[in-house]
Amino acid sequence: MDSVNCPYCSHTVSADSVMLWDNRFYCSECVTSISPALFRLATSGSPLEETVYPEDISALRYVTLMTIPMGLCGAVVALPVGWMCLIGKFDFWPSLIVLACLGGFASISILVQAIVGVTVQRSRLPRKVLIEDGYLRIVSPQDEQSSELQACKWRFGNTDGDTLCLFSGLRNGVLIQTPKTVIACGHSSESLEHWRAFLTLARLTEFPTLGCMRVLVVGLVTIGGGFVGAGLGYVVSTLTGRPSWQFGLAFLGAADGLAIGIILATWNIDGVQSARSRLHPAPAALIFFGLGLNIGKADGWTSALICASANGLLGGLIGWLCHVRLRVESKQNSAEVDHLDRNESRYE
Ligand SMILES: [Zn+2]
Repeated sequence: MDSVNCPYCSHTVSADSVMLWDNRFYCSECVTSISPALFRLATSGSPLEETVYPEDISALRYVTLMTIPMGLCGAVVALPVGWMCLIGKFDFWPSLIVLACLGGFASISILVQAIVGVTVQRSRLPRKVLIEDGYLRIVSPQDEQSSELQACKWRFGNTDGDTLCLFSGLRNGVLIQTPKTVIACGHSSESLEHWRAFLTLARLTEFPTLGCMRVLVVGLVTIGGGFVGAGLGYVVSTLTGRPSWQFGLAFLGAADGLAIGIILATWNIDGVQSARSRLHPAPAALIFFGLGLNIGKADGWTSALICASANGLLGGLIGWLCHVRLRVESKQNSAEVDHLDRNESRYE
């Protein structure tokens, strides 16, 4: 082996170097400066792994997590109703009964989600995540996935991408996106430090935090779609002399916008390969066709078919664009991995 460069600082590593789980050599100073705990783990020859066991998750955590959003939704519904009761527009007791029924229904549905969810998640546990010989491996009773580490991306923050965390209670952790899935690590403070330090040292590509941005994107695209639809509805209603198109197309525009917003917001959230199997032109065309049919049928079946076909074409086009974009991303990912492999082989 000739001179080897530390993946973190790019300097030539001295004899005093440490090999981490990606089989690359790092300067001891680099590793200790990022995390003395990681240095101890690496030099003790221990593996970098984390296992979530069935007893680590609970339905109660899911219920606790849902309490705040549920409370907010309840307030959004109850406050206007309370106001209407105060000014005498609604009767108090019937309103209270309707609100109580809604609250009861929502609580039961959360409980059912928690119980079904925890049962499904437990059947997939224990889940072991480890880094070995430059590969990230996820081992569960049903299957074993292995991805080249350099084809993965990561970030530190909200763990929404991994549904297991809704039951394990990990809200902020290390989120790793493989080409096949997204998983979160760092269920203990010790493990969190190890994973975060290692991924920082390995200079793995970070993927952006979306969080609130996602909700904003969905909202903006829905409103934008509504405006475009309203404009189009005005033209169609003027041309046909049927005012129903004005409202109908505004509604259709908003519905299309909502669908596009959801596609954009969840784009690539579960890895390029999953997104490619999820986003196909045909289902998109079918969903948009159905939306168009529902709106257009108010004006007879001929109009319904024209409206559905036009909207279906739009859906198909969006699905096709997504598919093309994902194919390019997938090719770029494999090109980046090849490039890194070539660079590494130069030092061997
Ligand atoms: Zn270094």
